[in-house]
Amino acid sequence: MKNGRTIKREKKQSLTVDLILYFALYFLLGVFVIFSAIYLSILHLSSDLPPLEQLENIYDEQSQSTVMYSSDGEVLRTLAHEKRFWVTYDQIPQCMIDALITLEDQRFFKHWGVSFPDVARAMKEDIFTMSFKEGASTITQQLAKNLYFTKKKTIKRKLQEMLTAIQIERTYSKPEIIEMYLNKLEFGNNAYGIQAAAQTYFGKNASELTMPEAALLAGIIQNISQHNPRSSVERIRQSALRRRNLVLTIMADMGKIPRATAEEAKAQPVMLSEYQGPPLGRAFLFTEYVRNKLIAMFNEQYGEENGEHYINTAGLQVHTTLDYRLQKVAEDSLKNHLDYIQKNYADKRIVYRRPMGLSDAEAVKDSLAQTMVQGALFAIDVRTGKILAMVGGENPHDNNFFNRAVQAFRQPGSAFKPFVYAAALDNGWRICDTILDSYVCYENVDGKGTVYEPQNFEKEYKGLISLRDALKESVNIVAIKLMNDTQNRGIGPMTVIRYARKLGITSLQSTDAVHSLAIGTCHVNLMDMVTAYTVFANLGEKTELFTIDHINDKNNNFVYAQPNGEGAKSEVLDPSVASLMVTLLKSVTTEGTASTTIRLRGMSDRPSAGKTGTGNEYKDAWFIGFTPHIACGVWVGFDSEQSTLGGNLFGTGATAALPIWVGFMKEASEILGYPRDDFKLADTITTLRICKDSYLKATPNCPAASTYTEYFIKGTEITDSCHIHRPWRVNTGDNRINAGQRSKRGF
Ligand SMILES: [Zn+2]
Repeated sequence: MKNGRTIKREKKQSLTVDLILYFALYFLLGVFVIFSAIYLSILHLSSDLPPLEQLENIYDEQSQSTVMYSSDGEVLRTLAHEKRFWVTYDQIPQCMIDALITLEDQRFFKHWGVSFPDVARAMKEDIFTMSFKEGASTITQQLAKNLYFTKKKTIKRKLQEMLTAIQIERTYSKPEIIEMYLNKLEFGNNAYGIQAAAQTYFGKNASELTMPEAALLAGIIQNISQHNPRSSVERIRQSALRRRNLVLTIMADMGKIPRATAEEAKAQPVMLSEYQGPPLGRAFLFTEYVRNKLIAMFNEQYGEENGEHYINTAGLQVHTTLDYRLQKVAEDSLKNHLDYIQKNYADKRIVYRRPMGLSDAEAVKDSLAQTMVQGALFAIDVRTGKILAMVGGENPHDNNFFNRAVQAFRQPGSAFKPFVYAAALDNGWRICDTILDSYVCYENVDGKGTVYEPQNFEKEYKGLISLRDALKESVNIVAIKLMNDTQNRGIGPMTVIRYARKLGITSLQSTDAVHSLAIGTCHVNLMDMVTAYTVFANLGEKTELFTIDHINDKNNNFVYAQPNGEGAKSEVLDPSVASLMVTLLKSVTTEGTASTTIRLRGMSDRPSAGKTGTGNEYKDAWFIGFTPHIACGVWVGFDSEQSTLGGNLFGTGATAALPIWVGFMKEASEILGYPRDDFKLADTITTLRICKDSYLKATPNCPAASTYTEYFIKGTEITDSCHIHRPWRVNTGDNRINAGQRSKRGF
């Protein structure tokens, strides 16, 4: 028993030793496999790392600029990296280096290319949010990224960037890395490199940058579009200021500067110099719009942040849809009429009131916004959706590239009414149906018991009136009742919003569903308005707009083309309803609020349709309209929504916007050689002679002057005949026949 027990114990001991050896062996084997794997991966990843010499050069050897052409073959703009001026490390002020490191890479002087504490934190963040977003890039890694402009964002690339970063650290000193980084960095507004940035924003050399200026530059580089100090959008300018102050606070927290110095710097306003950038070419706001499309397109192909570098160096030939002949007409029409308004009205009437707390530079900007009349014109080809002309404002260089055709959201006023009418016609209303134009008041939905008492523009009522006459004369009460009077077949604000959205108005919110929506108290941009009206012209089909017809590479090989040379189409409105809308909007230009200007400016011989719009208190003036071939919209107003165009003389859609529209449409149609043809309607549309006095079917007894042709969707025609003009009022049968013949002539 004793022996047996001993043997057993020995066996047990040897078993334990075996196990330990066994595991140790496997552990070592495991470690060996893991390390080999890592070694082999590094070897594999390192096999195609880019050479570093490129970092020391300003220009890429093979770099070629991309050229944008108009559809009529003019060079609009050349896209290239701007001329960079290399500054050496000792020309960069210490405050700039401090600000940069504070924000981008606080451990810069400690790590060797990759900061593992930061990587660990980022990985934790990524796992936590189940995403692959957290960058945790050191300055060296960001510099390494520059060498990889043609690869997609993958884990493999991320690892290669890390290896390159380590390689960079082994090759260059820390000051050399900072120097290369700041000379390669993009600072927005076409400024590449710290010297260009100092010139562009402050009109000085990099060596002369002050601490608040350095903090501003460091603050904006992560997302220039959202923190652009030159933006004309107040929110974005403020955001740049907040970023600057954040940098200053962190610098003080880290002990780089005394707290008091930081506070003093934070109190200083942002003082920018006048725009000092490169010449911007023709149709600048359009090419800028296209440039952003290109960047998005090639970011998708080559990975985030690489698109811009690609188009600046790849030597593409981008053939846009813009017709430069039309663009010039558009610019001239707009400029001439805005100058006229400015001279005759604005200069005399507008007094600038300087708000409290603005710096001088801000006050200059603010005074321009309050006192300088602005405008935008946007035109497309009806059938294809090609953007033909785009003017985003007067003198855009001084106004920070703000494209009013796309980026300004303003009140459309009566130009919104067609969406109410389209929704009504699609819900059983006929054009000759009548509404009583009279006093009306609605309780507001705010629950405070307040009421909405709308007024007509002329502050008088017209009594019983048909939808056609109401739209043509732009009667507010009728549009308001058509939408709000839900007990009398009113269609409701949410229905109107649904239709407007379907047609292409992207900015509408459900909070816009108030009684006054019917007369356009929401906010829309010009591009959406033109898109939506074009649905009427295309008999219910919505056409996606586009700006790039085709792209060839530097060897003239095909790269991209718009499919079928036209925008994608989808039916968003019944073709019959769209046809009725065309006839309605046509009477605005032939008999309604737009007719006088169109006649006086000599465009009555070319069939057109459209609608005037005048915003609350004459702050916005619009005309949106189309021929069978071109759709165009014009907006006129001040950038500041406090300023008003004043009154009827210069402030309505018909007086401020329409003359520009007519000037453009007349000449553009001639240049493109379009015939003076009329609109084609859906074959579901039929006509009937109606008596104006009763809004019923005309009889041979109705006086010819009282009758007109009305359009109906087949099967919905009026059946009752006029009961005002009775046969006994006519003396003889001959007269009856005459009356009938006369009315026929009107068809
Ligand atoms: Zn009659």
